Amino acid sequence: MPLQLLRRALAASAQRLRPPAAPCTEPRGARPCSLAACSSYRLRDALHPLWQSELSVSGGTRQSPINIQWRDSVYDPHLKPLKIHYDPTTCLYIWNNGYSFQVEFDDSADKSVIMGGPLENHYRLKQFHFHWGAINEWGSEHMVDSKVYPAELHLVHWNPVTSTSFEDAVMENNGLVVIGVFLKLGAHHAGLQKLVDALPAVRHKDAIVEFDVFDPSCLMPSCPDYWTYDGSLTTPPLTESVTWIIKKTPIEVDQNQLEEFRMLLFTSAGEEEKRMVDNFRPLQPLMNRTVRSSFRNHHLLNIETRPSELAHQHSP
Ligand SMILES: [Zn+2]
Repeated sequence: MPLQLLRRALAASAQRLRPPAAPCTEPRGARPCSLAACSSYRLRDALHPLWQSELSVSGGTRQSPINIQWRDSVYDPHLKPLKIHYDPTTCLYIWNNGYSFQVEFDDSADKSVIMGGPLENHYRLKQFHFHWGAINEWGSEHMVDSKVYPAELHLVHWNPVTSTSFEDAVMENNGLVVIGVFLKLGAHHAGLQKLVDALPAVRHKDAIVEFDVFDPSCLMPSCPDYWTYDGSLTTPPLTESVTWIIKKTPIEVDQNQLEEFRMLLFTSAGEEEKRMVDNFRPLQPLMNRTVRSSFRNHHLLNIETRPSELAHQHSP
């Protein structure tokens, strides 16, 4: 598709997305809130246009992101290892959608797919994007035991068995699977650098450039462990259509790479520049949900099965 047409199609698709709800629930410590419903928003200069539509409470019961409480997550021995097969030639474009930068994939066939894990069938990769903070102290959407990371990668997939397109899958109960990977400060990430090198070309909102032959599995941690839970999109339309798979182990990126994320702009060329930072949604309530883990928590087992307690449990 020519870039001009793609740009129009992407803009039209973004226009259609309207938030049914965005209940802001709890303060996130020192982090600023990006929602109109949150009082801390009023301390900020402007609300991002993504959230400027009416934000009534929809009574959602499985909204994302959440704080994953390690101790409360339940080990599920039936959870299989997640299998990832991405075809690097399905990578198409990178664009600044005014809220994040997003890498789009050709999803017209089963070429870049995931399977296994908690999934009953394969899902096709549609796009990936990141969320990050203005500084290293915050930025991720999910938290683990209230720990927040400087950034979080989301790889978005849809179910080609129950839906005929990504747009349909967004509205389906379990139409989407998003893999979340935390980014932490550490060593330079060679795989990420190819993306970082492309960012100056999409600095402004709506900028789009070709970006081909990229395998996002290079952004996966080698550790297979993950948590999974039923949730929602974290941007409008916030539909409760997502099976989340959150990788336990973060990947390392260096300070310069994070700074390049922060050089992007929310604003279009010609507008007063506004840095693209703090593009995350606040935590949502867990409500009546269980987070399952693919791994046993030996650390907690050691703490919780003290000899005295064991003796007590085993006495008649
Ligand atoms: Zn996301």
